[in-house]
Amino acid sequence: MSSSRSFEEIFSSLQNLIELRESEEGASVTLMPKCLCGKSDYFMPQAKDLEEELDESHEEQDDSEPIYIERSANKFRFAVCPACNPRLQCRLCEGTGHRVLKEVHVFETDDGEFEHSIENISPNTCACTHTERIVELLNQAEIPCKYMEADFQSFRFEHLNDFQRKKMNENIHKMESFCDSSAAIIKGGKASNHKYFMTLTGPVGSGKTLLATASLKNLIMNHNLTGRFVEFQFLLNQLKAEYEQKRSGFSILKHLIEVDILIIDEFGKGRNENEWQLEKLDDLINSRYNAKKITIITTNYLPQNFKYDEKEIPLTTHKPKSNYWSPSGKPDALTGNIPVNESFWTQTMLERVGARMYERILEVSEFIDFLNIPSYRKLMGKNFLDLYNK
Ligand SMILES: [Zn+2]
Ligand SMILES: [Zn+2]
Repeated sequence: MSSSRSFEEIFSSLQNLIELRESEEGASVTLMPKCLCGKSDYFMPQAKDLEEELDESHEEQDDSEPIYIERSANKFRFAVCPACNPRLQCRLCEGTGHRVLKEVHVFETDDGEFEHSIENISPNTCACTHTERIVELLNQAEIPCKYMEADFQSFRFEHLNDFQRKKMNENIHKMESFCDSSAAIIKGGKASNHKYFMTLTGPVGSGKTLLATASLKNLIMNHNLTGRFVEFQFLLNQLKAEYEQKRSGFSILKHLIEVDILIIDEFGKGRNENEWQLEKLDDLINSRYNAKKITIITTNYLPQNFKYDEKEIPLTTHKPKSNYWSPSGKPDALTGNIPVNESFWTQTMLERVGARMYERILEVSEFIDFLNIPSYRKLMGKNFLDLYNK
């Protein structure tokens, strides 16, 4: 029987077998890298779906960047989504990222004109590499992992009452317009008397750092600016190390002076700095003040015209639990048992950082206060305890 099968028959049965296999394994044959940014589905759309999707894309355009946070053992970093990287679909460079620049030289000789063209390759400058450049800028900003997802839409309101909700919304709007005007300043389109510092002030956990980071990310992603996040205490420690090794501190400060946007988080926190460290800090503020560089400060210390609500201040004078923090060994009447790290309850920003730095900040800074906005974390912790105690 088999000998009677023609070559054509064998070929077509093989063909059928292959088709069967392909239909069984269809899913894995068309499997593409998984989307990690949430912009597209697991599978690449088939030709028909693609047409539909193109129609839909006219109605609703998702213009967010295909960026996600890559988590490895001990590191968090921004990364371009392997499935949505615009480079993969780029017809201009076919995925290489290179741009070919043609130069045409015309030579005149006795026999007439000759054209000679040279192709210069400019690596990684194709428009499709835009997302990769943003990712690089975001990673250079050194945003702490717990704030990496910050954006203007990531604020929680469920723990706020109507008044607090309204205030929070106003704060977010103020910050958004500060970002717009900051971008305009950098691009040279705004009046020079515009404020270019922003100080976010108020209690712990009220959302200051989240709002500052959302702004930094907004300016990096929408305007391709350079930025850097630095914690005040961390910076002081770095300066201390420089001082001990008899170095100038310039290698640390240079980048902080030069970036387009700088966040100094927890300004004033900690209290073991010496004169030299304060002087370096003063240099940093002064340099950014003189160069009109966008600087965002978050702090628990209040400027002169603000005050914490008396009932928020955790005075513990009536029940001394510990006298560890009190230099005299006894709780003093003014601060009770407030630890040094929380001196902001009773000490102003002026008292904490000195007149020189304070007056510069005051002169060129806008202020947004988070007074009376409760801590989300604290409230969630309390709710958890209430649940536990039932
Ligand atoms: Zn994706
Ligand atoms: Zn390209």
